[in-house]
Amino acid sequence: MTDDANKTAWYALRRTLPTWSFEANLRELVACLPRYGVDEVIIKVDTEEFTHGQPPLDWVKAYQPKLFRIRDEMRKLGIAYSINPWITVGHCDRGRDARPQVPGLRTVVGHDGVECTCCACPLSTAWRAHLTQVWTLYAETEPHILWIEDDIRTFNHAPVTYGCFCPEHMRKFSERVGQAVTREELVAAMLRPGAPHSWRTAYLDMQAEVMIDTVAFIRGVVQRVSPTTSLGLMSSGPHQHCLEGRRWQEFATALAGDRPLYSRPPMGNYNEDSLRGFYYSHDSIKITRHCLPAGVIEQTEVESCPFTRYSKSVAFTFLEMALSFAYGSHGVTMNLFDHTGTPLEAEPWFGAMLKAKKPFLNALAAQAQKPGRYAGVRLLHHDRSTFSRQLPAGAPYGALGEDGHAMMQALEAHGLPTTYDASPVIAASGQTIRAFADDEIRTMLKGGLFLDVVAARVLMERGFGPEIGLEGLLEPVCLDQLGAFACEEFFNPAFGGADKKFLTLTTPHLGGRPDVGIMHLSPGADTLSALVDPDARRVYPAMSAFQNRLGGRVVVHALAWDSCAWGVSFCHPFRVDQLQGVMHWLGNGLLPVVVRGGVWPLALRKECDDRTTLLGLFNLSLDSWPQVEFDLPADTVVAGLERLTADGHWRADDALACELRNGRRVISYARPVPFDEPLFVRLGVCVGATLLKKGAPQTPS
Ligand SMILES: [Zn+2]
Repeated sequence: MTDDANKTAWYALRRTLPTWSFEANLRELVACLPRYGVDEVIIKVDTEEFTHGQPPLDWVKAYQPKLFRIRDEMRKLGIAYSINPWITVGHCDRGRDARPQVPGLRTVVGHDGVECTCCACPLSTAWRAHLTQVWTLYAETEPHILWIEDDIRTFNHAPVTYGCFCPEHMRKFSERVGQAVTREELVAAMLRPGAPHSWRTAYLDMQAEVMIDTVAFIRGVVQRVSPTTSLGLMSSGPHQHCLEGRRWQEFATALAGDRPLYSRPPMGNYNEDSLRGFYYSHDSIKITRHCLPAGVIEQTEVESCPFTRYSKSVAFTFLEMALSFAYGSHGVTMNLFDHTGTPLEAEPWFGAMLKAKKPFLNALAAQAQKPGRYAGVRLLHHDRSTFSRQLPAGAPYGALGEDGHAMMQALEAHGLPTTYDASPVIAASGQTIRAFADDEIRTMLKGGLFLDVVAARVLMERGFGPEIGLEGLLEPVCLDQLGAFACEEFFNPAFGGADKKFLTLTTPHLGGRPDVGIMHLSPGADTLSALVDPDARRVYPAMSAFQNRLGGRVVVHALAWDSCAWGVSFCHPFRVDQLQGVMHWLGNGLLPVVVRGGVWPLALRKECDDRTTLLGLFNLSLDSWPQVEFDLPADTVVAGLERLTADGHWRADDALACELRNGRRVISYARPVPFDEPLFVRLGVCVGATLLKKGAPQTPS
């Protein structure tokens, strides 16, 4: 990257220049990119609609002079030149058959026996020989980064869904376990109900090793020709990569070599659907970063598919970029224009937005990229979740992926920012906690720990019942199998509840019902909420709180969150009271940040090493928030408050105030926050500053 302040928010445009419109497209790049503020152009080759499948060697040879021309033109403009081949092993077949043009090509065979005609098995020697020739041509143009697509994985190679179980993979596997094994036998063992079969571990380890070897091979091809070219990695989200047992650290090290590694975390939202899609996007940045080694340079994926404003509005595109920089990414890779040669200026509104927003994004990025950490309730991820996951009978192959996803959005949507870093409070749902060792769980039980019923069941099995305040916990079943139930009544006033504070059990949406486990509480455990019948009588505890002998605090919710917490019915102002009340109690004064003021928040707190703090709020509702409150620990010292203005300056603002309230430090902003103007506040800090008077406006430090 660069020290140039105008390039802090690094713009990288992904662009295809088809052969038939090459000259016009190149002329336009030269004219437009400086005006848009673009810092890097990433040339996509043999792309999307017009892909040939595995790119034919002669076709790439004929295209290589065009790559040199683009590179040279970009050099004159001071714009970095990178390449993004559209495929590595291949995303999908789409009617192409690469076997005639790559003789001996071994293609992917799925868990169900379906075979690709184009997508290559990474063990295929013919594919490796072909890739060596083609990528040597790319590397000879000395790109800044050679971006590898997220097809470097062992799932989603349409028409194959999962794995590679081709004869070569099966031969290697049989050798590994010392007996001849068929695909059918292996898949049955992978999906065996209950405790995992030892073959699952053997297969996942083998897949992980094959993919580490594959990326080391690709890096070798590139850097043998162009030692200064870095590799870039598009990925598909760590929950998914659990399916193939990816070992992120080794994988990244093998791919990087001795150059910096670039990462393109997926952001989803290829079509604009709802602003709530940004919960996934921001989490993808945080969790992918958590898995990768320190020092990886991030350029997020801001992508439409298909293109034009029918797919994604300019406003939504801007928010996706702002979100990338707010969460500390170094750049954005923008896939905003089609790959069929249509001019950029067919939709000039995108370029105008890029230019207009750059000062704001530069200032935001300069603060958010400072070393530090994002604070909140800690979520759990484990690279080896699939190794330990227990399946019910008849589970599909996809059930091997990491579960517990509903927790992130449910907490964020109720004003509780999340993190994958250390925190006084941890929230666990689903089976992910199964992958952690007893010692690690014991450490979690010494702090604040929130558990859904599935995670609590895992801890019961592991003998931690006395530490979570339960004497018994039945396996969760659909609520309606337990009888006639109306609502969850959140009644405990010590946590913010009250009589007849009802939360619907028709969740996650109209027609849905949760899976629920009946809890038997230990003496000393409090009941926070109950399942009530149609006469509003409390029948079973729904949420419990307990202080254990390790000094920790544990709250258990009897609902299985993956069955109910991902939909709109789970969300309610009473749920805000419940979850914020519970998390405050679990944090015991140390909960890092809570936000209040409206519905559908996406908020952040970054504690920077230079002792400044960044607070942020994206309002993911179309209704403006009338005001905002960030609720922080009392010892947060605030020496100055500034807001990032639309023109990209941090300035004092009369609408900002700071006060001590109920043992917490509350930063408030007293003006509306609409969806398209996210709020960013910077706290200057200094040790030993006197506490500020209630409501006193602050001046910048
Ligand atoms: Zn294979």
